[in-house]
Amino acid sequence: MSRLLRSGFLLLLAAILPPAFAANSFNILVYHHVSEETPASTSISPTLFREHLQLIKDNGFQVVDLNEAISAVRNGTALAEGAVVITFDDGFNDIYTEGWPLLQEFNYPFTVFISTDAIDDGLGGMLSWDQIREMHSNGVTIANHTSDHDYLVRKRHYDQYWLNSVERNINNAQARLQQELGSEPPKWLAYPYGEYNLQLQQLVEKMGYIGFAQHSGGVWQGSDFLAVPRFAAAGIYSNPETLKVKLMSRPMPVTTESVQGMVTHQRQPVLTATISDRSDMSQVLNCFVDGTQEQVTWISDTEFQVQSGSELSTGRHRYNCTSRSLSGNFYYWLSKPWLVLDK
Ligand SMILES: [Zn+2]
Repeated sequence: MSRLLRSGFLLLLAAILPPAFAANSFNILVYHHVSEETPASTSISPTLFREHLQLIKDNGFQVVDLNEAISAVRNGTALAEGAVVITFDDGFNDIYTEGWPLLQEFNYPFTVFISTDAIDDGLGGMLSWDQIREMHSNGVTIANHTSDHDYLVRKRHYDQYWLNSVERNINNAQARLQQELGSEPPKWLAYPYGEYNLQLQQLVEKMGYIGFAQHSGGVWQGSDFLAVPRFAAAGIYSNPETLKVKLMSRPMPVTTESVQGMVTHQRQPVLTATISDRSDMSQVLNCFVDGTQEQVTWISDTEFQVQSGSELSTGRHRYNCTSRSLSGNFYYWLSKPWLVLDK
């Protein structure tokens, strides 16, 4: 079917199906290593990675190109039902030796976010520019993960000096990618460690980039495109059954203003969120702080609050909230990442 015919068909489908079924969201997976010999927390074995790809195929999920998916949700055009995007961060060598052959076998598109200094330095275990060029010329999308993979927001002061150095960090990586690939990469930035703050998001917006984070949840038109969520799928998150639940989930329609930023000096930060449409949601909203269930306080029919019952340690934490769909066998999913820093 031609692209035009296909998109016309999808638009027609979107018009005749009730809103809850219109495929206007997608989920992104993030991997690092595909190997049995690398740190378990960021790795998936080739065998289990194949299982993931097979699960995606057997359950009718559609692996789509990241650019196509982002454009569709931003422009309000329908995406394939069960659309999923595959990404890798950092640029480890095993993406080329273990991951890519499997992805080629399934004919799945994917994106690799690269920190360019480690490639330039020829560090062991990293991709070489030759390998990156070979993948790129075979349709793999290569994008920006900063030059040095530094912690961008774990700083004492968020001043102009800091902003300038972060901007250089992003621009240098983009320039290196362009030099080596011969064409300009998409203006996408995967934040190292998934860490960002409001000032960094404003810089990324000013630079014309989309920012990708590492908290769970799907992407829809109302998403914060300066902190796009991605589901971790390796290490403790690699179980195929829980992965399937995540791939079936849809983003909870929450206004981005109510979940802004990530850095906090509060030890028990309060998440306040407003759901724009609860018509397809169960009355029950379950919220978890780093996996422990916490009480939800409703302020109105659509606005709720959740707060950690205990003091959070310095570092990254997650509030996750889910609510069952009334019309389908899936959950609406919201994740709020925090980076707790000392005063
Ligand atoms: Zn990384």
